[in-house]
Amino acid sequence: MGIEAKNIIAGPCAVQSREQIISTAKFLHERGINKMRESWFKPRTRPGFEGAGEDAAPWTAEVTNLGLEVGTEVLIPDHVTSVVNGVARCGGDISKLFMWIGSRNQNHIMQRNIGKRVLDETPETVMLLVKNQPWYDEGHSVGIVEHVLDSGIDPSRVAYIWRGYKWHPSEDNPDDFRNMPHWESAMRVKEKLNGIPMLIDPSHIGGSVGNVMKIMKLAAQYSFDGAMIELNPLAVEQRVTDKGQQLSFQEFDELRSQMELN
Ligand code: PEP
Ligand code: MN
Repeated sequence: MGIEAKNIIAGPCAVQSREQIISTAKFLHERGINKMRESWFKPRTRPGFEGAGEDAAPWTAEVTNLGLEVGTEVLIPDHVTSVVNGVARCGGDISKLFMWIGSRNQNHIMQRNIGKRVLDETPETVMLLVKNQPWYDEGHSVGIVEHVLDSGIDPSRVAYIWRGYKWHPSEDNPDDFRNMPHWESAMRVKEKLNGIPMLIDPSHIGGSVGNVMKIMKLAAQYSFDGAMIELNPLAVEQRVTDKGQQLSFQEFDELRSQMELN
């Protein structure tokens, strides 16, 4: 298995409370995993809870002060400013932040402007990750990175997260994956990214806890450089987004021992 703990990012789909965030940070830190996800802003298919937003600033600052790198999805350039200023105002370490452009954010001007904002307003240590779009189009998947790099941000600050392409009714899907992994397509896209690392997102591909385990095993046969995994200590019924695919602490430990992630 090529994925080491130092290349794992884990944490909740959406930030809901301080307790949720701080307990997750401590859980990961104790296991030598020092990169956490915790979206402040959530794109929603239909209107609903959109993340804790700026209320998450003090909790995120606390996580950086525990020594973890912590990241959130940004939908617009102003989200970059909001995260950096919020965490700085709360006494956090902004050099420990990272951000990502989600799969639904497919306006290339927005992608470039988010890249520009990260370049202009964040320390050089701040990485900008991009997720591939939901539909099958390898040119587009590569193009997202090209648009981001057009902002002038250094390629060493960019990484890719592979989250599969949306399942189409004409495709066999015996495991009921939420998105289809299309492994060969992922590897062809990676090949064209000129050395930009590619992480696997087993949570949004799998769509269920059991499938996260399956996807991690399958991914081990390909050259991914890391993984972003949803992990949430809240009981399933208390979670407001992606309820059934986020691992509990116990399930995460099972995954670690099965995959020998250490
Ligand atoms: C997420 O990472 O929580 C998310 C919304 O994923 P995607 O953009 O891949 O759908
Ligand atoms: Mn999610």
